[in-house]
Amino acid sequence: MFSRLFALTLTVSLIVSASAPPQKIYWGDAVPKGWNGKWPAKLLTVPEKTNYERTASNKEVLEFIDALRWSSDKVQVMTVYISPLRNVCPAVILADPRVGRPDEAAKSGKTVVYLQGNIHPYEPEGKEALLMLSREILFGKMTKLLDDLIIIICPNFCVDGNDTLSLSEGTPHFLGSGSNSQNLNLNRDAVRVDTVEVAGLYRNIFNRWDPVLIFDAHLMGRVQHGYANGYIHCTVPAAAPEPRDYVFDKLFPSVRNAVRDNYGLEVFTHSGTDNKWPPTIWGPGQAIWSNEAKFVANAYGLRNRMSILAETPGHEPFERRIYAHYALIAETLGYAAAHGKEMQDICRKADADVVEAVKTKSESGELRNWTAGKYESYGKVDILMYKERNISEFVPGTSVRGKMAEHMRRAPELVKGVEFMAKAVGTESAAMPRGYLIPAEYGVIAEKLRIHNVKVETLAKPLKVSGEQFVIDKIDRGRGGDYSANNMVRLKGGFAPSPEREFPAGSFRVDLAQPLANLAFYLLEPRSADGFVGSGVFDGIFEELEAGKRSIVYPVYKYYKVLD
Ligand SMILES: [Zn+2]
Repeated sequence: MFSRLFALTLTVSLIVSASAPPQKIYWGDAVPKGWNGKWPAKLLTVPEKTNYERTASNKEVLEFIDALRWSSDKVQVMTVYISPLRNVCPAVILADPRVGRPDEAAKSGKTVVYLQGNIHPYEPEGKEALLMLSREILFGKMTKLLDDLIIIICPNFCVDGNDTLSLSEGTPHFLGSGSNSQNLNLNRDAVRVDTVEVAGLYRNIFNRWDPVLIFDAHLMGRVQHGYANGYIHCTVPAAAPEPRDYVFDKLFPSVRNAVRDNYGLEVFTHSGTDNKWPPTIWGPGQAIWSNEAKFVANAYGLRNRMSILAETPGHEPFERRIYAHYALIAETLGYAAAHGKEMQDICRKADADVVEAVKTKSESGELRNWTAGKYESYGKVDILMYKERNISEFVPGTSVRGKMAEHMRRAPELVKGVEFMAKAVGTESAAMPRGYLIPAEYGVIAEKLRIHNVKVETLAKPLKVSGEQFVIDKIDRGRGGDYSANNMVRLKGGFAPSPEREFPAGSFRVDLAQPLANLAFYLLEPRSADGFVGSGVFDGIFEELEAGKRSIVYPVYKYYKVLD
């Protein structure tokens, strides 16, 4: 499927370039002159005011948002959370006419999109690009976007990390940290939700506003590819395939061409290689991306919605990195404005389909879903690469290693026929039951599910069911999942049928006939790669039950049939 689309887009762009003069491509550290436009002083961002040597502090982000709202009637400001260090994390809702509540957004029929910067504050270019884009959307050449979109922007997601400054190599000269004030990486917290930051994101944005598409902006250290930005979608095999396939097959190729045509940048998938020359593999598994749900963009795909994470190369100067995110986000918004209805329909259909499948196919046990996955090849692809590594040099006359390698200012090489290892496939599966039952004493699990917006009912009277239970014989711990901030937990054991069991009033019931069935399944299945068990949410409970020392029953029961 992909290679056909890819061939098609190549043909189209060749036809276009035959008739129109080709857009100049900006390589390395180059940006078009005057790309950011001309703005009054109060609407200039901190990088613009400092020759791209500084990024905005928390207060300067608030000041910029304040300038926007005193100049426009299309802005609504909201608080996403208040941090452990008592910093406020603001988001703006841009809409024409202005909307202040989710029901107004739903009534408008417009497509709700959520854009996030600075989940990793040492990657501040997304934050700055989003501030510049808000200005453009409200007062500049992108005002038409609000005819079709409601755009929620949280430019500075990790506020505590943003103001934890250290001296950097290169620009900006001062950088925030990669974690929050508890030293937790917020982009590994999408399953556990241990942090007020991610809990605030879920409660106040995802659960209330239900964006059709989210975009999360990052930077990726020293890469050897020749792309100005790398995008990736949700690659959790348990997530409904239609929304994530749509992002990969339709949105990405179209946005890629538009970024080339309108901004002169080459962008492609967030991927790495096998470090051979010439490389033989190109895929996200080589670039700190996985099939697991701990990343915000991956977890969001489990909600039958569309998500994108993007990583611009880290060795390039600050202005170039801001430009790269600006271009990719602008064209993603352009695509969403033109195709919003189609995107909404695909997501709503995925909601309806999973409910229908649970209602009709779960009782027999025939309905299954994936608990783990890997990447396979889509076929061969041509990629832009630099042969030499990027070793940064000293800026002349200084003790700063902030200068990108000279060869990376030139055009990269086109390497042909590389295996495109980006197709997410399932490797292990489990039956999707009609629902799960959780004993009353594990209210902490019910509460976690509710933060994820999973519907959990507290039984008012006893419920008799049949189903199966998982017997845990052994617990393996360690870095089972790559790049995890948590020790991954793997259970040894197996399911045993349980013909009849009664749960008393006060127990928690998760009926999977709900739109978030895939998410609830992934979180609660005992053998999901990084569900609640895999990411350690059950650790305390397992310790109390002396799991591992003796065989015990996993406290979450899978029911297929209600008996009374
Ligand atoms: Zn990052």
